[in-house]
Amino acid sequence: MAQLYFRYSTMNAGKSIEVIKVAHNYEERGKNVLVMTSAIDDRYGKGKVTSRIGVSRDAELIHDDTNIMQLFLNKHKEKPIDCVLVDECQFLKRHHVEELAEIVDSCEVPVLCYGLKNDFRNELFEGSYALLVYADKIEEIKTICWCGKKATMVARIIDGKLVKTGEQIQVGGNEMYISLCRKHYNDGRLGE
Ligand SMILES: [Zn+2]
Repeated sequence: MAQLYFRYSTMNAGKSIEVIKVAHNYEERGKNVLVMTSAIDDRYGKGKVTSRIGVSRDAELIHDDTNIMQLFLNKHKEKPIDCVLVDECQFLKRHHVEELAEIVDSCEVPVLCYGLKNDFRNELFEGSYALLVYADKIEEIKTICWCGKKATMVARIIDGKLVKTGEQIQVGGNEMYISLCRKHYNDGRLGE
């Protein structure tokens, strides 16, 4: 049975490298994968899934008005798709997630979505909210805070300071993101 997966984590847990690895594993076995990513995040150039360690691969871009089901069916007709992989799925709209669920239910093709759960203000992203509602399997990719505890929070850092307010999505500014445990998110300590 095909399923809709939501594999979430905080920042820098290796989600993109996981997408690239899973795609590679399918292709090694002669399978056809459809890799997609959000058009919002263009840090590394358009239409690519790129990991921090420098490995990348081409990906179909998902814009706000993209109908993923239609995009999938067009590709599926050309060459049957065995698996759909989505990076940066926190940036998806609810309708995108509904379309991904439709791919699973109507076409029996597994869909694996990778992304953040909560933003730096501790709110859910729209895509993550919808995935928590619709996914068959919800799995955590773990990473740790500087103190060694599991990191569950995403902190936005501007000029070395943790900030807790601002726009949810701000790509390409001078801010950076790190993963912290709840305690160190709350007290703002960024290291020893
Ligand atoms: Zn900590």
